[in-house]
Amino acid sequence: MTDQHADLNAKFQKRIFSGIQPSGNLTLGNYLGALKRFVQKQDEGIETIYCLVDLHAITVWQDPEALRRQTREAAAAFIAAGIDPARSILFNQSQISAHAEMGWLLNCVARMGWMNRMTQWKDKAGKNAEKQSLGLFAYPTLMAADILLYHATMVPVGEDQKQHVELTRDIAAKFNHDYKTEFFPSPAPLIEGAATRVMSLRDGSKKMSKSDPSDASRINMTDDADTIAKKFRKAVTDPEPLPETLEGLEGRAEARNLVNVYAALADISPEQVIAEFGGKGFGTFKPALADLAVSKLEPISTEMSRLMADPAEIDRILGSGAEKADAIAQPILAKTLDIMGMIRSR
Ligand code: ATP
Ligand code: MG
Repeated sequence: MTDQHADLNAKFQKRIFSGIQPSGNLTLGNYLGALKRFVQKQDEGIETIYCLVDLHAITVWQDPEALRRQTREAAAAFIAAGIDPARSILFNQSQISAHAEMGWLLNCVARMGWMNRMTQWKDKAGKNAEKQSLGLFAYPTLMAADILLYHATMVPVGEDQKQHVELTRDIAAKFNHDYKTEFFPSPAPLIEGAATRVMSLRDGSKKMSKSDPSDASRINMTDDADTIAKKFRKAVTDPEPLPETLEGLEGRAEARNLVNVYAALADISPEQVIAEFGGKGFGTFKPALADLAVSKLEPISTEMSRLMADPAEIDRILGSGAEKADAIAQPILAKTLDIMGMIRSR
Protein backbone atom coordinates (compact mmCIF):
# COMPACT_ATOMS: atom_id res chain seq x y z
CA MET A 1 0.00 0.00 0.00
CA THR A 2 2.62 2.46 1.16
CA ASP A 3 4.58 1.89 -2.03
CA GLN A 4 1.53 2.66 -4.14
CA HIS A 5 1.10 5.95 -2.30
CA ALA A 6 4.79 6.73 -2.79
CA ASP A 7 4.70 5.81 -6.49
CA LEU A 8 1.75 8.09 -7.07
CA ASN A 9 3.21 10.94 -5.01
CA ALA A 10 6.50 10.77 -6.91
CA LYS A 11 4.57 12.28 -9.84
CA PHE A 12 3.85 15.43 -7.81
CA GLN A 13 6.13 18.11 -6.44
CA LYS A 14 6.60 17.99 -2.66
CA ARG A 15 4.16 20.37 -1.09
CA ILE A 16 2.87 20.81 2.44
CA PHE A 17 -0.58 22.01 3.39
CA SER A 18 -2.03 22.34 6.87
CA GLY A 19 -4.48 24.51 8.76
CA ILE A 20 -5.74 25.58 12.13
CA GLN A 21 -9.29 26.66 12.95
CA PRO A 22 -9.59 30.21 14.29
CA SER A 23 -12.17 28.85 16.74
CA GLY A 24 -10.55 30.28 19.88
CA ASN A 25 -7.18 30.93 21.49
CA LEU A 26 -4.42 28.72 20.15
CA THR A 27 -3.25 26.25 22.79
CA LEU A 28 0.00 24.59 23.75
CA GLY A 29 -1.39 21.52 21.93
CA ASN A 30 -1.81 23.50 18.71
CA TYR A 31 1.68 24.93 19.17
CA LEU A 32 3.50 21.64 19.78
CA GLY A 33 1.35 19.40 17.55
CA ALA A 34 1.06 21.81 14.64
CA LEU A 35 2.49 25.33 14.60
CA LYS A 36 6.01 24.60 15.83
CA ARG A 37 6.30 21.85 13.24
CA PHE A 38 4.87 24.09 10.51
CA VAL A 39 7.83 26.38 11.13
CA GLN A 40 10.31 23.48 11.00
CA LYS A 41 8.91 22.33 7.64
CA GLN A 42 9.14 25.86 6.23
CA ASP A 43 12.74 26.06 7.44
CA GLU A 44 13.55 22.73 5.75
CA GLY A 45 12.87 24.54 2.48
CA ILE A 46 9.74 22.57 1.48
CA GLU A 47 6.95 24.56 -0.20
CA THR A 48 4.49 25.27 2.61
CA ILE A 49 0.88 26.47 2.51
CA TYR A 50 -0.78 27.29 5.84
CA CYS A 51 -4.40 28.21 6.22
CA LEU A 52 -6.61 29.67 8.92
CA VAL A 53 -9.63 27.55 8.22
CA ASP A 54 -12.46 29.92 9.06
CA LEU A 55 -14.98 27.87 7.04
CA HIS A 56 -14.24 25.00 9.44
CA ALA A 57 -14.57 27.23 12.49
CA ILE A 58 -18.22 28.05 11.70
CA THR A 59 -19.21 24.38 11.92
CA VAL A 60 -19.92 25.42 15.52
CA TRP A 61 -21.33 28.86 16.40
CA GLN A 62 -18.85 31.76 16.12
CA ASP A 63 -19.69 35.32 17.03
CA PRO A 64 -18.72 37.30 13.88
CA GLU A 65 -16.62 39.92 15.68
CA ALA A 66 -14.90 37.23 17.74
CA LEU A 67 -14.19 35.19 14.59
CA ARG A 68 -12.50 38.17 12.93
CA ARG A 69 -10.38 38.79 16.03
CA GLN A 70 -9.50 35.10 16.45
CA THR A 71 -8.49 34.84 12.77
CA ARG A 72 -6.14 37.83 13.07
CA GLU A 73 -4.81 36.54 16.36
CA ALA A 74 -4.12 33.10 14.87
CA ALA A 75 -2.34 34.79 11.94
CA ALA A 76 -0.29 36.78 14.45
CA ALA A 77 0.56 33.54 16.29
CA PHE A 78 1.80 31.95 13.07
CA ILE A 79 4.02 34.90 12.22
CA ALA A 80 5.26 35.33 15.79
CA ALA A 81 6.12 31.62 15.96
CA GLY A 82 8.29 31.93 12.84
CA ILE A 83 6.08 31.55 9.77
CA ASP A 84 7.50 33.98 7.23
CA PRO A 85 4.81 35.16 4.78
CA ALA A 86 7.52 35.57 2.17
CA ARG A 87 8.48 31.88 2.39
CA SER A 88 5.16 30.24 3.33
CA ILE A 89 1.75 31.01 1.89
CA LEU A 90 -0.42 32.16 4.82
CA PHE A 91 -4.09 33.03 4.29
CA ASN A 92 -7.61 32.51 5.58
CA GLN A 93 -9.65 29.90 3.78
CA SER A 94 -12.83 31.87 3.01
CA GLN A 95 -10.91 34.30 0.77
CA ILE A 96 -10.64 31.51 -1.79
CA SER A 97 -14.02 30.26 -2.98
CA ALA A 98 -12.37 27.22 -4.56
CA HIS A 99 -12.22 25.57 -1.10
CA ALA A 100 -16.00 25.50 -0.79
CA GLU A 101 -16.42 24.45 -4.43
CA MET A 102 -13.94 21.61 -4.14
CA GLY A 103 -15.62 20.67 -0.86
CA TRP A 104 -18.91 20.17 -2.71
CA LEU A 105 -17.30 18.10 -5.45
CA LEU A 106 -15.70 15.82 -2.86
CA ASN A 107 -18.96 15.54 -0.91
CA CYS A 108 -20.14 13.68 -3.98
CA VAL A 109 -17.13 11.35 -3.87
CA ALA A 110 -17.01 10.55 -0.12
CA ARG A 111 -19.40 7.85 1.13
CA MET A 112 -21.76 8.19 4.09
CA GLY A 113 -20.30 5.05 5.63
CA TRP A 114 -16.82 6.62 5.66
CA MET A 115 -18.09 9.80 7.26
CA ASN A 116 -20.05 7.92 9.91
CA ARG A 117 -16.82 6.30 11.06
CA MET A 118 -15.06 9.59 11.86
CA THR A 119 -14.24 9.47 15.58
CA GLN A 120 -13.94 13.26 15.85
CA TRP A 121 -17.54 13.63 14.67
CA LYS A 122 -18.62 11.15 17.33
CA ASP A 123 -16.57 12.96 20.01
CA LYS A 124 -17.75 16.45 19.05
CA ALA A 125 -21.39 15.58 18.37
CA GLY A 126 -21.67 13.41 21.47
CA LYS A 127 -25.26 12.55 22.33
CA ASN A 128 -26.48 15.64 20.49
CA ALA A 129 -25.89 14.57 16.90
CA GLU A 130 -29.35 15.71 15.78
CA LYS A 131 -28.65 19.25 16.93
CA GLN A 132 -25.26 19.63 15.22
CA SER A 133 -24.76 21.54 11.98
CA LEU A 134 -24.53 19.53 8.77
CA GLY A 135 -21.20 21.32 8.33
CA LEU A 136 -19.74 19.64 11.41
CA PHE A 137 -20.54 16.25 9.90
CA ALA A 138 -19.23 17.19 6.44
CA TYR A 139 -16.11 18.97 7.83
CA PRO A 140 -13.69 16.15 6.87
CA THR A 141 -14.58 16.40 3.16
CA LEU A 142 -13.89 20.14 3.27
CA MET A 143 -10.56 19.28 4.87
CA ALA A 144 -9.88 16.82 2.05
CA ALA A 145 -10.72 19.64 -0.37
CA ASP A 146 -8.31 22.02 1.41
CA ILE A 147 -5.48 19.54 0.94
CA LEU A 148 -6.27 18.22 -2.54
CA LEU A 149 -6.94 21.70 -3.95
CA TYR A 150 -3.18 22.30 -3.73
CA HIS A 151 -2.11 18.77 -4.67
CA ALA A 152 -0.38 18.71 -1.29
CA THR A 153 1.67 15.57 -0.68
CA MET A 154 2.28 16.00 3.08
CA VAL A 155 0.07 17.24 5.88
CA PRO A 156 1.66 17.96 9.28
CA VAL A 157 -1.03 17.46 11.95
CA GLY A 158 -1.53 16.26 15.50
CA GLU A 159 -2.56 12.67 16.17
CA ASP A 160 -6.26 13.65 16.35
CA GLN A 161 -6.32 14.57 12.64
CA LYS A 162 -4.74 11.34 11.36
CA GLN A 163 -8.11 9.79 10.51
CA HIS A 164 -9.13 12.83 8.47
CA VAL A 165 -5.93 12.72 6.42
CA GLU A 166 -6.52 9.01 5.82
CA LEU A 167 -10.05 9.85 4.68
CA THR A 168 -8.48 12.38 2.28
CA ARG A 169 -6.40 9.53 0.84
CA ASP A 170 -9.54 7.39 0.42
CA ILE A 171 -11.36 10.25 -1.32
CA ALA A 172 -8.38 10.90 -3.63
CA ALA A 173 -8.13 7.20 -4.44
CA LYS A 174 -11.86 6.89 -5.21
CA PHE A 175 -11.76 9.99 -7.41
CA ASN A 176 -8.71 8.70 -9.30
CA HIS A 177 -10.33 5.27 -9.67
CA ASP A 178 -13.81 6.45 -10.71
CA TYR A 179 -12.49 8.92 -13.29
CA LYS A 180 -9.63 6.65 -14.42
CA THR A 181 -6.99 9.25 -13.71
CA GLU A 182 -4.01 9.91 -11.45
CA PHE A 183 -5.02 13.51 -10.88
CA PHE A 184 -4.82 13.68 -7.08
CA PRO A 185 -1.80 12.64 -5.00
CA SER A 186 -2.20 10.56 -1.84
CA PRO A 187 -1.29 13.04 0.90
CA ALA A 188 0.62 11.58 3.85
CA PRO A 189 -0.02 12.66 7.43
CA LEU A 190 3.19 13.87 9.14
CA ILE A 191 2.76 13.16 12.84
CA GLU A 192 6.15 13.61 14.47
CA GLY A 193 7.75 14.55 17.75
CA ALA A 194 7.13 13.95 21.44
CA ALA A 195 3.83 15.86 21.71
CA THR A 196 1.57 14.73 18.89
CA ARG A 197 -1.37 14.49 21.29
CA VAL A 198 -1.15 16.93 24.20
CA MET A 199 -3.75 16.00 26.81
CA SER A 200 -6.12 18.18 28.81
CA LEU A 201 -4.65 19.36 32.13
CA ARG A 202 -7.93 18.45 33.85
CA ASP A 203 -8.52 15.01 32.29
CA GLY A 204 -5.66 12.83 31.06
CA SER A 205 -7.99 10.88 28.77
CA LYS A 206 -9.07 13.93 26.71
CA LYS A 207 -6.94 15.92 24.30
CA MET A 208 -6.23 19.57 25.00
CA SER A 209 -8.55 21.69 22.80
CA LYS A 210 -9.09 25.38 22.24
CA SER A 211 -12.85 24.79 22.24
CA ASP A 212 -12.89 23.01 25.63
CA PRO A 213 -15.26 25.01 27.89
CA SER A 214 -12.72 24.79 30.75
CA ASP A 215 -9.90 27.35 30.41
CA ALA A 216 -8.01 25.45 33.15
CA SER A 217 -7.81 22.42 30.82
CA ARG A 218 -5.36 24.15 28.50
CA ILE A 219 -2.40 26.51 28.27
CA ASN A 220 -3.22 29.30 25.81
CA MET A 221 -0.33 30.70 23.80
CA THR A 222 -1.28 34.13 25.18
CA ASP A 223 -1.44 33.12 28.87
CA ASP A 224 0.89 35.16 31.10
CA ALA A 225 3.62 33.60 33.25
CA ASP A 226 1.50 33.50 36.43
CA THR A 227 -1.43 31.84 34.66
CA ILE A 228 0.84 29.23 33.07
CA ALA A 229 2.45 28.43 36.43
CA LYS A 230 -0.95 28.19 38.12
CA LYS A 231 -2.45 25.95 35.44
CA PHE A 232 0.48 23.51 35.58
CA ARG A 233 0.41 23.56 39.41
CA LYS A 234 -3.27 22.63 39.35
CA ALA A 235 -2.91 20.06 36.54
CA VAL A 236 -4.37 16.73 37.60
CA THR A 237 -1.62 14.14 38.31
CA ASP A 238 -1.09 11.13 40.55
CA PRO A 239 0.87 11.60 43.83
CA GLU A 240 3.90 9.43 42.86
CA PRO A 241 7.28 10.89 41.91
CA LEU A 242 8.35 10.60 38.26
CA PRO A 243 9.68 7.11 37.47
CA GLU A 244 13.37 6.33 36.84
CA THR A 245 12.59 4.75 33.44
CA LEU A 246 10.18 5.50 30.61
CA GLU A 247 8.38 2.17 31.15
CA GLY A 248 7.40 3.45 34.60
CA LEU A 249 5.03 5.94 32.87
CA GLU A 250 2.83 3.01 31.82
CA GLY A 251 -0.71 3.60 33.10
CA ARG A 252 0.17 7.15 34.22
CA ALA A 253 -1.44 9.20 31.43
CA GLU A 254 -1.15 12.59 33.19
CA ALA A 255 2.51 12.12 34.12
CA ARG A 256 3.33 10.90 30.62
CA ASN A 257 1.60 13.93 29.13
CA LEU A 258 3.66 16.40 31.16
CA VAL A 259 6.89 14.53 30.35
CA ASN A 260 6.02 14.61 26.63
CA VAL A 261 5.21 18.33 26.79
CA TYR A 262 8.52 19.05 28.53
CA ALA A 263 10.41 17.01 25.94
CA ALA A 264 8.71 18.75 23.00
CA LEU A 265 9.26 22.22 24.45
CA ALA A 266 12.93 21.53 25.23
CA ASP A 267 13.58 19.65 21.94
CA ILE A 268 14.83 16.61 23.85
CA SER A 269 13.50 13.05 24.10
CA PRO A 270 11.16 11.84 26.88
CA GLU A 271 14.05 9.55 27.98
CA GLN A 272 16.21 12.60 28.57
CA VAL A 273 13.44 14.21 30.63
CA ILE A 274 13.21 11.08 32.79
CA ALA A 275 17.00 10.99 33.12
CA GLU A 276 16.85 14.50 34.55
CA PHE A 277 13.66 14.33 36.64
CA GLY A 278 13.27 10.59 37.47
CA GLY A 279 12.63 10.18 41.22
CA LYS A 280 11.61 13.83 41.63
CA GLY A 281 8.06 14.78 42.63
CA PHE A 282 5.62 17.01 40.76
CA GLY A 283 6.43 19.74 43.29
CA THR A 284 9.80 20.02 41.51
CA PHE A 285 8.80 19.02 37.98
CA LYS A 286 5.74 21.24 37.51
CA PRO A 287 7.51 24.55 38.27
CA ALA A 288 10.40 23.52 35.98
CA LEU A 289 7.87 22.75 33.25
CA ALA A 290 6.09 26.07 33.79
CA ASP A 291 9.40 27.99 33.56
CA LEU A 292 10.28 26.18 30.35
CA ALA A 293 6.83 26.85 28.83
CA VAL A 294 7.02 30.54 29.75
CA SER A 295 10.51 30.85 28.26
CA LYS A 296 9.22 29.45 24.94
CA LEU A 297 5.77 31.06 24.80
CA GLU A 298 6.44 34.53 26.22
CA PRO A 299 8.54 35.82 23.32
CA ILE A 300 5.84 34.58 20.92
CA SER A 301 2.95 36.19 22.81
CA THR A 302 4.87 39.47 23.14
CA GLU A 303 5.38 39.51 19.38
CA MET A 304 1.71 38.59 18.86
CA SER A 305 0.61 41.65 20.86
CA ARG A 306 2.88 43.84 18.77
CA LEU A 307 1.43 42.45 15.53
CA MET A 308 -2.14 42.73 16.80
CA ALA A 309 -1.66 46.47 17.21
CA ASP A 310 -1.79 46.73 13.41
CA PRO A 311 -4.73 44.58 12.22
CA ALA A 312 -4.67 46.19 8.75
CA GLU A 313 -1.17 44.82 8.21
CA ILE A 314 -2.33 41.33 9.22
CA ASP A 315 -5.24 41.59 6.76
CA ARG A 316 -2.81 42.70 4.05
CA ILE A 317 -0.60 39.66 4.69
CA LEU A 318 -3.62 37.34 4.55
CA GLY A 319 -4.82 38.97 1.33
CA SER A 320 -1.48 38.63 -0.36
CA GLY A 321 -1.22 35.00 0.81
CA ALA A 322 -4.69 34.35 -0.59
CA GLU A 323 -3.65 35.68 -3.99
CA LYS A 324 -0.69 33.30 -4.12
CA ALA A 325 -2.83 30.38 -2.93
CA ASP A 326 -5.54 31.14 -5.47
CA ALA A 327 -3.03 31.00 -8.30
CA ILE A 328 -2.29 27.38 -7.35
CA ALA A 329 -5.87 26.41 -6.50
CA GLN A 330 -7.79 27.74 -9.52
CA PRO A 331 -6.15 25.59 -12.22
CA ILE A 332 -6.53 22.50 -10.02
CA LEU A 333 -10.22 23.24 -9.41
CA ALA A 334 -10.75 23.91 -13.14
CA LYS A 335 -9.11 20.62 -14.09
CA THR A 336 -11.20 18.78 -11.47
CA LEU A 337 -14.38 20.24 -13.01
CA ASP A 338 -13.19 19.20 -16.50
CA ILE A 339 -12.47 15.66 -15.34
CA MET A 340 -15.95 15.44 -13.79
CA GLY A 341 -17.65 16.59 -16.99
CA MET A 342 -18.65 20.17 -16.18
CA ILE A 343 -18.83 22.65 -19.07
CA ARG A 344 -16.77 25.77 -18.49
CA SER A 345 -17.34 28.18 -21.38
CA ARG A 346 -16.77 31.66 -20.00
P1 ATP B 1 -11.14 22.71 18.24
O1 ATP B 1 -11.40 22.32 19.65
O2 ATP B 1 -11.85 23.96 17.80
O3 ATP B 1 -11.29 21.56 17.27
P2 ATP B 1 -8.31 22.23 18.35
O4 ATP B 1 -7.52 22.68 19.53
O5 ATP B 1 -8.63 20.79 18.21
O6 ATP B 1 -9.61 23.14 18.25
P3 ATP B 1 -7.76 22.46 15.49
O7 ATP B 1 -7.85 23.78 14.82
O8 ATP B 1 -8.91 21.50 15.34
O9 ATP B 1 -7.49 22.73 17.07
O10 ATP B 1 -6.44 21.73 15.04
C1 ATP B 1 -5.30 22.45 14.54
C2 ATP B 1 -4.08 21.56 14.56
O11 ATP B 1 -3.65 21.36 15.92
C3 ATP B 1 -4.31 20.17 13.99
O12 ATP B 1 -3.14 19.77 13.27
C4 ATP B 1 -4.46 19.30 15.20
O13 ATP B 1 -4.12 17.94 14.97
C5 ATP B 1 -3.51 19.97 16.17
N1 ATP B 1 -3.90 19.72 17.56
C6 ATP B 1 -5.08 20.07 18.12
N2 ATP B 1 -5.11 19.71 19.41
C7 ATP B 1 -3.91 19.09 19.66
C8 ATP B 1 -3.34 18.50 20.82
N3 ATP B 1 -4.00 18.46 21.96
N4 ATP B 1 -2.09 17.97 20.73
C9 ATP B 1 -1.41 18.01 19.55
N5 ATP B 1 -1.90 18.56 18.42
C10 ATP B 1 -3.13 19.09 18.47
MG1 MG C 1 -9.85 20.14 16.57
